[in-house]
Amino acid sequence: TREQRWEMRVHTLASGERVVHLVDRTGSYTADRMRVDFVANASHELRTPLASLLGYVETLADGAGEEPEIRARFLKIMHDEARRMDRLISDLISLSRIEADKYRAPAESVQLDELIDQVCQELSGSPRAADLVTEIEAVHPVRGDRTQLSQLLHNVIGNAMKYGRHGTAVTVSLRSEGEAMVRLAVTDQGEGIPPEHIPRLTERFYRVDSGRSRSLGGTGLGLAIVKHVVERHRGRLDIASAVGVGTTVTVRLPIEPAVIKS
Ligand code: ADP
Repeated sequence: TREQRWEMRVHTLASGERVVHLVDRTGSYTADRMRVDFVANASHELRTPLASLLGYVETLADGAGEEPEIRARFLKIMHDEARRMDRLISDLISLSRIEADKYRAPAESVQLDELIDQVCQELSGSPRAADLVTEIEAVHPVRGDRTQLSQLLHNVIGNAMKYGRHGTAVTVSLRSEGEAMVRLAVTDQGEGIPPEHIPRLTERFYRVDSGRSRSLGGTGLGLAIVKHVVERHRGRLDIASAVGVGTTVTVRLPIEPAVIKS
């Protein structure tokens, strides 16, 4: 199969007997394959808005810009395409930074309740801000990277707002779980995700409905970033969803070791 790769080595012994040695290369093959796919996908994702941008520039240069209405409409589209490229490049940079930090333990003490407040404030300009409901308990701080955790919150809460139905609540809850963990859960009442897609959502550029993701301004990298941030913090990510009912994304993170000892 595509996932299984074996290297076959044939040795001839002094007796003339032949020994076939099978080496499992699945791991390195998959890693190589993923790298190649990633570069191909990223290039394609960047080229699409760029091709559109070039098309409009050329049309304007050919004289279409003399008509003020057409010029305004074209400039708006060009602005949207340029912003799409900007978002994509920001997400690519974030992803590579998080990956580069993979083996460096995060060192800040982060109060998640405050960070959630801050992110909700930042999202309050969005058209769905009125639907945000928070249920925040006082919890111990986590040992973390503030910038990355803020990004995680933006992506998970942002998705719930994007894919939730207008006028329904998006609930962000935070509470302690046991002695050593905090649990963040973000629930929306959107269209949900068919179960066969769930295991693949954290793959880079994986989308259930590409057209819908793009029209909502998605880059397809949000949950890949979330997954990497959770891994770096030695946490756990769970996505539960029911089609037609909604989705809950749960992130569990360990609290500050210093707090547990005291
Ligand atoms: P995108 O930028 O496309 O939103 P993400 O990596 O954040 O990329 O998410 C990947 C895909 O997972 C989305 O395209 C969407 O199909 C699906 N998805 C993520 N969150 C939700 C949600 N809360 N409800 C429904 N679908 C979701």
